[in-house]
Amino acid sequence: MVKELMNYINGEWVKPDTDRENIVLNPANQEVIGKGFHSSKEQTEEAIRVAKETFERGEWANATPGERAAVLLKIADMIDERAEEIATLDTIDNGKILEEASFDVADAASTFRYYAGLIQAPAGEVFNASDDHQSMIVREPVGVTGLIVPWNFPLLMSVWKIAPALAAGNSIVFKPAEVTPMSAMILFDIFDQIEELPKGVANMVMGEGNVVGQTISESHDVDMVSFTGSTAVGKKIMQAASGNLKRISLELGGKSPNIVFADTDLDMAVDYGLFGIFYGSGQICSAGSRILVEESMYDDYVKLFVEKVKNIKVGPGLDPESNMGAIVSEQQMNRVLEYIEIGKQEGATVAAGGYRLTDNGLDKGFFIAPTVFVDVENDMRIVQEEIFGPVVTIQPFKDEADAVRLANSTNYGLAGGVFSKDGSRAMRVIKQVRAGITWVNDYHPTFVEAPWGGYKQSGIGHSLGTYGLEEFQEVKQINVRLQPESPGWFPQ
Ligand code: NAP
Ligand code: MG
Repeated sequence: MVKELMNYINGEWVKPDTDRENIVLNPANQEVIGKGFHSSKEQTEEAIRVAKETFERGEWANATPGERAAVLLKIADMIDERAEEIATLDTIDNGKILEEASFDVADAASTFRYYAGLIQAPAGEVFNASDDHQSMIVREPVGVTGLIVPWNFPLLMSVWKIAPALAAGNSIVFKPAEVTPMSAMILFDIFDQIEELPKGVANMVMGEGNVVGQTISESHDVDMVSFTGSTAVGKKIMQAASGNLKRISLELGGKSPNIVFADTDLDMAVDYGLFGIFYGSGQICSAGSRILVEESMYDDYVKLFVEKVKNIKVGPGLDPESNMGAIVSEQQMNRVLEYIEIGKQEGATVAAGGYRLTDNGLDKGFFIAPTVFVDVENDMRIVQEEIFGPVVTIQPFKDEADAVRLANSTNYGLAGGVFSKDGSRAMRVIKQVRAGITWVNDYHPTFVEAPWGGYKQSGIGHSLGTYGLEEFQEVKQINVRLQPESPGWFPQ
């Protein structure tokens, strides 16, 4: 069934107002699943105006934490009730396998529940500033928040922003990615059914990044932009945001090292290597896209890795036999294939994959074989640049210092993992990795309680945890005089 793409502004479903079409495809077979239009700058400004008026009216901003939490809990329950529908939609929209999409939906419900709990915990500080002052530090919503998300976790990336933004009492203007807008319409359908969420608090505008996204980033009526996406667009947003010095939170790209010492169990290390890069077809910002292996284990590691890659069954996300799904769009597939060509031209060796998959009924979809590059030099583009697809490089290292040097040798600093049976060494190494999301003897699991964010050009600020709530809060000091009297500063 083809769904019509709609905006949600001031509690009403409205059509995007340009004649520029957006056709949303299932990347596994190019079937049309959504159809509609992009929104104009004026329509985006209308949503911002609504969010501003709603914020100033204060119904939501001044609702008690308990009232806001009740709404968030209701949203979580309604996500659970519609879990299958949402997971199926994210699967056919993004291309990922259904099992992954189902985890995303469960995580999304947990995120709403977590922030429902957190917002009800007593917050702020009180201190005796002087013998005649009682001072307080209180937290308030930032105001109108613009939320811009990518296509790799259509529902979950939206919820990582929407849940804390709403919990804190903000109004929002949300823009999904052009290629994956489908599950967001269910989320806003859920919002639509909750009477206790005042109209105009949560607004959604569909459309192009350089129109809708740019308008949100530039607007002087937007107090904050929270963005997840590429480093290149993150830089544009930072510039656009400078017009009114709005607050920014940027979750950007990565090129994360997965470091394996030779004392590690080979089989396990290889399995984590595969999981680290090929989960989500490598379209994950924290993917372990650079595997670094200690010299003495290198040959065995590569051999086993290449053997095991062959077991990965690539196919449509809805097929329970598939272990890895499609690439999100033709454009992204071509981008990844281009990087594979660049790698070959740079002189790297393709040890596995390296091509588009078209056999066994995959010809209508956008599938790429899991690809492994060896014989790479550290300054090659395939080692330094984010490919955002099922492509990994495997490099040898000599010793601890060499591993750390290679690990830190890109502009990114999002994630990283280290595998070793020597606990002290693993700790020494992981502490030196300049990245915000790290693992020891593990790769990928993260928790809603812990801050998600990058070092270096991987971003500014954090999602999740208490940090993810504070992003959406201003802090104010209130100094209370206990014995009010004239300050006596100027002559009486
Ligand atoms: P992208 O091209 O940067 O797009 C992200 C979002 O920004 C989309 O909604 C896009 O709109 C919009 N956008 C594009 N140009 C804009 C502009 N000038 N102003 C404002 N918004 C604009 O990234 P993507 O290709 O969708 O996603 C992949 C990237 O996201 C990767 O780099 C990945 O590492 C990163 N990512 C990071 C995290 C993290 O937590 N650090 C998580 C997931 C993904 P359109 O839909 O029109 O393109
Ligand atoms: Mg799609």
